[in-house]
Amino acid sequence: MLSNTKPMDEHVGELLSGYIDGELTQQQRQRVEIHCGNCGKCESELSALRALRRDVSNSRLSEYGEDVWREKMDDTTVKVTRSIGWLLFLGAVLICGGIGIYAFVFESSMGTFEKLLIGAVYGGLALLFISVLRQRLIERKADKYKDVEI
Ligand SMILES: [Zn+2]
Repeated sequence: MLSNTKPMDEHVGELLSGYIDGELTQQQRQRVEIHCGNCGKCESELSALRALRRDVSNSRLSEYGEDVWREKMDDTTVKVTRSIGWLLFLGAVLICGGIGIYAFVFESSMGTFEKLLIGAVYGGLALLFISVLRQRLIERKADKYKDVEI
C-alpha cells in the first residue's frame, strides 16, 4: 500500500486535471498517457475534462459576453414590465367596460337580441383592442431589431 509505484490498472481520475493543466511530473504524465491508452473510462473522462476546460477558458476570454447577457436581461425586464403595464391597463379597461355593460344589460329592460348585440359590440371592441396591442408589440420588436442593425 505504501509502495510508490501504483499498479498500472489503477484508474488515473485524480491525475487527469493535473495532466491537462501540465502540473504532473514526467512519470505521472506517462502513467496517464499509458493508462488512457488502455482504459476507455479514463480516456473519456480525460476528453470530457478537456472539453470542460475549453468551455471555461472560452467564457473567460469573452467576458464582454457577460455584459451582452446583462443587457439582454435588462431588455427583457423592460419588455416584461411594459407587457405587465399593458396587461394591467387592458384588464382595467375590460373590467370597467364589463361593469358598465353589466349594469347596462341587467338594469335595462332591453330584449335578449339587443343585449346580445351590445355584447357583440363590446366583444368586438375588446378583440380590436387586443389586436392593436399585439400589433404595437410586434412593431416595438421590429424597431428593436432595427436599432440593433444600425
Ligand atoms: Zn482507467
